[in-house]
Amino acid sequence: MEKKKRIGLVAHDNCKKDLIAWLEWNWKNVSQHKLICTGTTGRLVEEALNRMQEQNCEMYPLNIIKLKSGPLGGDQQLGAMIAEGKIDIMIFLWDPMQPQPHDVDVKALLRLTVLYNTVTANSVSTADFIISSPFFNKEYKPKANDFASYINRSILV
Ligand code: PGA
Repeated sequence: MEKKKRIGLVAHDNCKKDLIAWLEWNWKNVSQHKLICTGTTGRLVEEALNRMQEQNCEMYPLNIIKLKSGPLGGDQQLGAMIAEGKIDIMIFLWDPMQPQPHDVDVKALLRLTVLYNTVTANSVSTADFIISSPFFNKEYKPKANDFASYINRSILV
């Protein structure tokens, strides 16, 4: 993982205000990285970071990719990016109190974060720990899981 991280950002509707509050606190640091968001989250993230930059009279070029909205396939797009090694950190504030129309996509995305040993926060406090880590703004080499024995397993005996 390079110094500039590729950060996936997703928040379910009831959690969006928590993500935006976290970004308002960490706007300067987060603005230095590449952000890959589901659609509605991405729009709010962009608005919040622009607002914070303007308020503080410090402008940084934002690098934000907005995928499809989560229920329209955005979670699946992020999952595909994880499988392709294109996401370093995932901050996914999912709602534990409300069923989602795309629950299966949410579960699939969470599974892939574990499968690929992706640095992941599902709560604001975990996101605080991640952004406070000395690795957040440094290079870091995570352990890559070795799938060779799975890929080469013999099925036909
Ligand atoms: P949204 O999607 O950012 O488009 O609201 C988030 C989600 O529900 O996965």
